Amino acid sequence: RSRAKIIEAERPTTGFTDIAGYDGVKQEISEVVDFLRNPGRYAAAGAKGPRGVIMVGPPGTGKTLFARAVAGEADVPFLSVTGSAFVEMFVGVGASRVRDLFDEARKRGPSIIFIDEIDAVGGRRGGGTRLGGNDEREQTLNQLLAEMDGFDQSSGIVVLAATNRPDALDPALLRPGRFDRQVTVPLPNQAERAAILAVHARGKTLGPGVDLDAVARGTPGFSGADLANLVNEAAINAVRADRATLVQGDLDTARDRVLLGRRETSNALL
Ligand code: ATP
Repeated sequence: RSRAKIIEAERPTTGFTDIAGYDGVKQEISEVVDFLRNPGRYAAAGAKGPRGVIMVGPPGTGKTLFARAVAGEADVPFLSVTGSAFVEMFVGVGASRVRDLFDEARKRGPSIIFIDEIDAVGGRRGGGTRLGGNDEREQTLNQLLAEMDGFDQSSGIVVLAATNRPDALDPALLRPGRFDRQVTVPLPNQAERAAILAVHARGKTLGPGVDLDAVARGTPGFSGADLANLVNEAAINAVRADRATLVQGDLDTARDRVLLGRRETSNALL
C-alpha cells in the first residue's frame, strides 16, 4: 500500500449548513474554526488554542462530517486517516506513518488532521495480552503523543479524532495539550431527524403528501447516516416506479429496508 492511499488530503467545501441540528456541537467546535482562521489572535493574547478534540458518539452520527465541515468553514486542508491504518504487522510502520501524517500537515500550514477510530491506535497501553503487534501499537501511540506534544501552536494544526469507545482510550491521550477537549455527538432526536431528512431531501422533488415529520417520528434510534441512506433508498424506489417525484410510500418502504439492513448487520455481529 502506498502512503498516498493511507493519508487522504482534500480541501472540503462542506460547511455547517450541511449538518442539520447539533447546534451545541457546532457551537463547541466553532472555536476550532475561529482558531484556524485567526491563530494570531490567540498568540497575541498569550492563549493556547485548541490542539486536539475528540468527538465521541455512535457510528453514523456525523463525526467525520463535522471534521470535514470544520476544515471547510476555516478554509484549510483536511488530512484524514483511519486509526486501523496505523496498525500494521511490521514494527515501526505505524510510528513512521504517524510521523508522515504530521509532516504532511506541517508542510501545509494551518490544517485539520482527522483520525477516525482513534481507539485502534489510542487504546490503553500495557493492558491485555502482549500477543501480536501490541508493542507495535504502543510505539505508534507513543509517536502520536510525541507529535501532539511537539507541534508548535503557531503552526495552526488542530487534530480532530473520533471514537465510539471513549473509555477504551489511553488516559495519556487526554492530558492537557493533547486531546483535552471532548465533544459528544449523540444520536439525533426527533426534531433533528426531521432536519437531517430535510437536508438530504434538498434537490429532490417531494410529492404533496410527503410528511418528513412523520418519517422522523417513525425512525427512533436512526443515525444521520441511516437517514441519509433512507432518503437515497426512497429516491431509488421512485426511479424504479419511473417517477421523478418521491411519494410517502417511497419513504415508508425505504425506512423498512434500512431497519431490516440494520437488524441484519447487528445479527451478523452476534
Ligand atoms: P462513523 O463513526 O461510522 O465513521 P460518523 O459519525 O463519522 O460515522 P459520518 O460518516 O460523518 O458519521 O456520517 C455519515 C453520513 O450521514 C454523512 O456523510 C451525512 O450524509 C449523514 N449525516 C450524519 N449526520 C448528519 C447531520 N447531522 N446532518 C446531515 N447529514 C448527516
